[in-house]
Amino acid sequence: MLVVMRQNASPEEIQGVEAAIEARGWKAHPIPGVQRTAIGITGNRGAVEAPVFESLPGVLEVIPVTHAYKLVSREMKAEDSIVSIGGVPVGGPGLVIMAGPCAVESLDQMLIVARRVKEGGAHILRGGAFKPRTSPYAFQGLGEQGLKILAAAREETGLPVVTEALDVEGVDLIERYADCIQIGARNMQNFSLLRRAGKAKKPVLLKRGLASTLEEFLMSAEYIVSEGNYDVVLCERGIRSFSDFSRNTLDLAVVPAVKSVSHLPIVVDPSHGTGRRDKVAPLSRAAVAVGADGLIIEVHHDPNTALSDGPQSITPDMFDHLVTDLRQIAPVLGRQL
Ligand code: PEP
Ligand code: MN
Repeated sequence: MLVVMRQNASPEEIQGVEAAIEARGWKAHPIPGVQRTAIGITGNRGAVEAPVFESLPGVLEVIPVTHAYKLVSREMKAEDSIVSIGGVPVGGPGLVIMAGPCAVESLDQMLIVARRVKEGGAHILRGGAFKPRTSPYAFQGLGEQGLKILAAAREETGLPVVTEALDVEGVDLIERYADCIQIGARNMQNFSLLRRAGKAKKPVLLKRGLASTLEEFLMSAEYIVSEGNYDVVLCERGIRSFSDFSRNTLDLAVVPAVKSVSHLPIVVDPSHGTGRRDKVAPLSRAAVAVGADGLIIEVHHDPNTALSDGPQSITPDMFDHLVTDLRQIAPVLGRQL
């Protein structure tokens, strides 16, 4: 349910509605809008007593939210959300490029790549310190040491850092070192992790699960937002299909689908989405054309020796060319880069 306040509602009237919601043991989520404030209600099981709220001072109307997901829906908030990642706005008119290696391998590697992607036009640096690998024998990441390296790369380049948390303890650490907590595809329905990220003071990059529907994807975002963290950026990174020419099938159609039902920003990961270096640039261009708010791209200075995801990592030179192309495409779509 959504309680829509009158345009001239006073702060006291808004607080009065919040208090009435909380007095029933439910949670109030004030959503300030350009025109007026609305207050989302979660935690209620049965029908909310709409007439009770409608009669409170300052209330315009009470409307039901029909989707299973509430707080992330456009019904709840009509305007696009803009999420700040270390001061970089995601979801506004500017396209946001996140780039860096799949995994943090060493200080040297991270600094080489960070400097190059910064020069090439990246706004945010990526790199995994905790890696979710299919094989327990594969490189698992440098852990906290990797987070320290990321912090050093941020210090040097000024780029905010996004990195993945594999578990609840990882969120504690990443909150301290990084600017954005990534939740990976395999963890999209790790509900205790989602809840913990919902209590974090840093924004969350939530990747779509390998086999999840749009509704499941948004319900996972709802877990985070319902805990009080409204700063969620969605990420399409490809889903499993019968395709035999790519690692995953990048479902670009989900971008406009998300935009029509949710106010959250969405970026696209063409690296995991294709698994192939030569497919990253064409799918990046397509992602921008289809309305993505940004891209997250794996870049390695020597992909053949990369400890993780070398085959899908592009070189810094390829990254430079890609950004040059995107700078031509962006204005056609009314975006800045
Ligand atoms: C990654 O970003 O390196 C990663 C492991 O992503 P995903 O969860 O999409 O596989
Ligand atoms: Mn990777």
